[in-house]
Amino acid sequence: MKLSKLFSISLMALTCVILIGCTSMPSSKTSQPNIVVIFVDDMGYGDMSCNGHPTIKTPNLDRMAAEGQKWTSFYVAASVCTPSRAGLMTGRYPVRSGMCSDKKRVLFPDSLGGLPAAETTMAEMLKARGYATAMVGKWHLGHLPQFLPVNNGFDSWYGIPYSNDMDGDNVKIKAANKGISKNLWIEGKHWKEPRSEYWNVPLMEGETILQRSPNQELLTKTYTEKSIDFIRTRKSKPFFLYLAHSMPHVPLFRSDAFKDVSTAGLYGDVIEEVDWSVGQIMRTLRDEGLAENTLVVFTSDNGPWLRFKTLGGIAGPLRGGKGSTWDGGMREPCIFWWPGTIQPGIVHGLGSTLDLLPTTAAISGATLPQAQLDGYNLLPSLLNGKPSPRREMIYYRGQEIYAIRLGSFKAHFKTRSGYENDLETHNPPLLFNLDHDPGENYNVADKHPDVLKQIEQLRKKHEAGVKPVEDQLAKR
Ligand code: MG
Repeated sequence: MKLSKLFSISLMALTCVILIGCTSMPSSKTSQPNIVVIFVDDMGYGDMSCNGHPTIKTPNLDRMAAEGQKWTSFYVAASVCTPSRAGLMTGRYPVRSGMCSDKKRVLFPDSLGGLPAAETTMAEMLKARGYATAMVGKWHLGHLPQFLPVNNGFDSWYGIPYSNDMDGDNVKIKAANKGISKNLWIEGKHWKEPRSEYWNVPLMEGETILQRSPNQELLTKTYTEKSIDFIRTRKSKPFFLYLAHSMPHVPLFRSDAFKDVSTAGLYGDVIEEVDWSVGQIMRTLRDEGLAENTLVVFTSDNGPWLRFKTLGGIAGPLRGGKGSTWDGGMREPCIFWWPGTIQPGIVHGLGSTLDLLPTTAAISGATLPQAQLDGYNLLPSLLNGKPSPRREMIYYRGQEIYAIRLGSFKAHFKTRSGYENDLETHNPPLLFNLDHDPGENYNVADKHPDVLKQIEQLRKKHEAGVKPVEDQLAKR
């Protein structure tokens, strides 16, 4: 009797310990945290005040960076929209899915291609793991029904299928630019004083076109409201929200509340509204008690569109911008935020949007796609301050490798500005030490033949593993 009584008391005590242990487990350690990816369009490395912009104010991004981890060497898979987004969604260089091309740089309204069904998106992966998935904003991975977000793993989608400068209404644009020569198209009034009616871009929900030429002044605000609604009305499931802002891609629009608020002009107004949006998402997560159980990632799809001068952003200390394989085209502002879980700090190690799929798989316990992946799980760096597992980045322009970064060094085999005919081939390649020389100004190739050799080996190995596939962007 005595023994069995002792046994019951011990069992009760043990149960208490387990229960106390369970209840004191921080909510951030639950097995399936929520995931929010905020992806902006054409914002430059230098466009956040916490990355040194002297006049644009981004208090919400600055707070996110102070509370989370700001990565200073974070890359996208391409310097233009479509292939960059394919890389983010699949964790694979777009050359593997056919979502980059030497014929057309992105998808257009008359394109017939899109993300192949055989590709597994981050949304499909997380949905299979029981996540509720929603996308709000710009897709740009195919506008035909089979390619839309709702047929690629998202339960719902509200947004535009491609860029906000597509489907231009030539008659209206010509009328707006009367008297301006064709060569000065970039100086056109339709960019400087844009009106939504100049573009017939469709606003969609699911597979339905809600409206053509929607009021673009309301896009940032409406995307934010839709995202907040999704977070608030979430089911009991964990969720994945992909908020892909249409801004600050030209034509630039902002709502009345942000007109002429920034000392940085129209572009500054637009970024400050995007920053407001980030603050609203974070405030909602806090209000709903979800902040400590949600990973939020903020980054941009490519660098600033420099040919638009002050209507584009800046790449800060980096060289070049959108469309080029100089770092300004592909190195992005990037912040990871997950209060109580992520170690706050600034990370100089390499990271990429290619890494978000494997990282979110590790966070959620989702099964990785069978396909050849190019991403790394960044969790050890995010949670424990370990060095990033990523050592290299391959810079494609279309289907061709223009440059490779290995550690601190970057070799350029070819260079070309985003939108000029100034292609140069370099043999031996140009070599820059990006830690010493982030502006890629001082060629050190003659001092490091060993590094060039390693990069050449890496290039050969990578190219041997890439199989030719159908070019999705050339189909029309
Ligand atoms: Mg873009």
